[in-house]
Amino acid sequence: MTLESQQEQVHLLDVGQKNQNEVEKMQFDDRTLQCKDCGADFVFTAGEQEFYAEKGFVNEPQRCKVCRDAKKSSMRNREPFIAVCAECGGEAKLPFKPRDERPVYCSECFANKRDSV
Ligand SMILES: [Zn+2]
Ligand SMILES: [Zn+2]
Repeated sequence: MTLESQQEQVHLLDVGQKNQNEVEKMQFDDRTLQCKDCGADFVFTAGEQEFYAEKGFVNEPQRCKVCRDAKKSSMRNREPFIAVCAECGGEAKLPFKPRDERPVYCSECFANKRDSV
């Protein structure tokens, strides 16, 4: 085999690789999905779909970027929220910030309430 024909082969391989990538990209189209959390429409871009496919993710994203980022930062921020128990006035540790209109209970009172129902 001459050097020239080797180079020719390498060149052909390169072209083949490139075409394959282009074909794979063609399979993805931007899609509009609805966020599970806030109900807003968001775009699941072709690039993201490709990324998901590469990672082997089967499920489509359920949330828009805003909600995903919010979720991520709330996961990082694991400090429990301290509130006052509506039943015994003790300390109630919550994994989330309570809504003002809802009474919160410490884990003991919460367990009692649940048992009494
Ligand atoms: Zn959202
Ligand atoms: Zn309590």
